Amino acid sequence: MFEKVLIANRGEIALRILRACREIGVATVAVHSTADAEAMHVRLADESVCIGPPPAAESYLNIPRLMAACEITGADAVHPGYGFLSENARFAEILETHDITFIGPTSEHIRIMGDKIEAKATAKRLGIPVVPGSDGAVTNEKQAAAVAKEMGYPVLIKAAAGGGGRGMKVAHRPEDLDIALKTARAEAKAAFGDDSVYIEKYLAKPRHIEVQVFGDGKGNAIHLGERDCSLQRRHQKVWEEAPSPGLNVEERKRIGAVVADAMRKLKYRGAGTVEFLYEDGQFFFIEMNTRLQVEHPVTEMITGLDLVIEQIRIAAGASLSLKQEDVTFAGHAIECRINAEHPRTFRPSPGMITYWHPPGGLGVRVDSGAYQGYRIPPNYDSLIGKLIVHGKNRNEALMRLRRCLSEFVIDGIDTTIPLFKDLVKESDIANGAYDIHWLENYLKASEQKP
Ligand code: ADP
Repeated sequence: MFEKVLIANRGEIALRILRACREIGVATVAVHSTADAEAMHVRLADESVCIGPPPAAESYLNIPRLMAACEITGADAVHPGYGFLSENARFAEILETHDITFIGPTSEHIRIMGDKIEAKATAKRLGIPVVPGSDGAVTNEKQAAAVAKEMGYPVLIKAAAGGGGRGMKVAHRPEDLDIALKTARAEAKAAFGDDSVYIEKYLAKPRHIEVQVFGDGKGNAIHLGERDCSLQRRHQKVWEEAPSPGLNVEERKRIGAVVADAMRKLKYRGAGTVEFLYEDGQFFFIEMNTRLQVEHPVTEMITGLDLVIEQIRIAAGASLSLKQEDVTFAGHAIECRINAEHPRTFRPSPGMITYWHPPGGLGVRVDSGAYQGYRIPPNYDSLIGKLIVHGKNRNEALMRLRRCLSEFVIDGIDTTIPLFKDLVKESDIANGAYDIHWLENYLKASEQKP
């Protein structure tokens, strides 16, 4: 096992990783920018290193500074969390050449899955069903028009280097194609420095279903069921649950088996998530994330497994802690992402939390680094915490969620809690009857109400 893990992240996920390390007796190093000197993960870590000024490029994304922090503290492994350098193949490679373990997959697998065109081709080769679309990148308007015509409109232009819903444009009719192509390219170039794009059939009413997998890097792999992340705004997840209210037992088993089998063939190592759109009984691969996901707690709540400890164990060379037949699912879990944003305009709301009272009780989990008197810096993502509830079944989870939302008090800043309070009153939510467009339509409709 490792002696000391450096946590190359901030916020709730840094704290989440720290907790896992502490439980298994591994020392922790927190790194932080000057904006995060007062953060909870810094306070709780065994050691901490300031790695630079607030801009992420000069701190959390700065590889030389992170390497220096490893060197100074003698860390023998790095957990990258999600975001920042978690899917940076170069970072994984550099750590490896310095004999520091990257807690994640091989740099080769990160690279393959980081290019969505290559990821799709790989998925196809491994027997995973993919969204119909262009074979590889589209390079000019003529080719795009031909592909779109053959597939039928609407189509979606997506960035090969995509992430966070950026560089994605819909063309509903042939007339829209040129402009969609141009704007997707420009957005991709600005966000990722790479303007390669590809085309996919735009699905009308799919659910976003993702399968959690773990591999040992030696050809063994298991799946831990699915999460439903269909409630999205601007292609970003807002609410996640497990299991999906839209799948039956047979479909769950089928897609889980397909994914685990593909990961065995790939000899995948560590935690991964294979994302699908699901429509009319069919699954279509969209991408694979080669890291821990924000929404991993809902899987932990229904399986009873600690996914971060499992990641650390595997990175240290251990085999998977259980076999597929030993994985069991109990009850239902729901996660709400609490963002420091206005609940309707989604305008970021950094600043001081003057009062903080999280809910508690049976089946309740709050993952957050926030506390009373904590000042949310304006420099980063607005996620300040996650409220996760677990119940015997979906109904109980929803009842518990309603109760928790009424208890949760955060003063001094705007948060998305009022949005969730409204959502749990909706009959479609109660019935689990929603697709990836439901939330956007709901927000639009409530905007128009006087
Ligand atoms: P990113 O890496 O930017 O998050 P994804 O490929 O994971 O992009 O897609 C994000 C979201 O965009 C999906 O969850 C879904 O809501 C929507 N989306 C992606 N591909 C399609 C498609 N072919 N049809 C309809 N919606 C899509």
